Amino acid sequence: MIVAIDGPAGAGKGTITSLVAEELNLVTIDTGATYRCVALQCLNENVTLDEPEKIIEIAKKVKIDMDENKNVFLNGKDVTKEIRSTEVTSIVSPVSSIPEVRDEMVKLQRELAKGKNVIMEGRDITTVVFPEADFKFYLDAEVEERARRRVKQNEEQGIESNYDEILESIKKRDYNDMHKEKGALIRTEDQIYIDSTNMSIEEVKETIIKHIKGE
Ligand code: C5P
Repeated sequence: MIVAIDGPAGAGKGTITSLVAEELNLVTIDTGATYRCVALQCLNENVTLDEPEKIIEIAKKVKIDMDENKNVFLNGKDVTKEIRSTEVTSIVSPVSSIPEVRDEMVKLQRELAKGKNVIMEGRDITTVVFPEADFKFYLDAEVEERARRRVKQNEEQGIESNYDEILESIKKRDYNDMHKEKGALIRTEDQIYIDSTNMSIEEVKETIIKHIKGE
């Protein structure tokens, strides 16, 4: 079974995905983490955004793994926390806009899902990675609410952050993610649309589970 969830940054996809996975016994795959790994490796190798050829090389050669606890490994090293840094976040959207980088990551994401019952979240899962998924959701929330949630999430993880900066960064990422030449975040007729602005995590989780169970 494949459950696909797309939506903008900070809509709660990560949290919801983990909760639904736990309840329905699904494997979670955070596809944003794969693009974050490529972005981190660019920083590690001092490759900048005006060197797309080098970024494509990195996307082709990096080894990315995920375990069942959502830990992320880049070339064998645990980078779970490092890939959430402000530096990575500020370049990940342009890095993921390079079509060849997307081709590599989509291949890898399909590979990660092979033979498993998965719940996969990202921007183009319902449209590109698994357009034939059994269930397709678009999880949304107003941008100010998403910025508030990201600040809270960062605080919980001990990452320092400022609301205004996060809001600006999310708006920029939204624009970029929605205007990509390939794999843009879009809404389609066949997605189940959920606006979580005024919903609790529990309510969103229950809504998704009801759809999946056909209740
Ligand atoms: O989900 P997360 O915020 O970690 O994703 C980081 C970035 O990776 C997004 O802003 C987006 O640019 C990119 N991404 C993507 N396609 C996906 C998942 C993430 O382009 N399926």
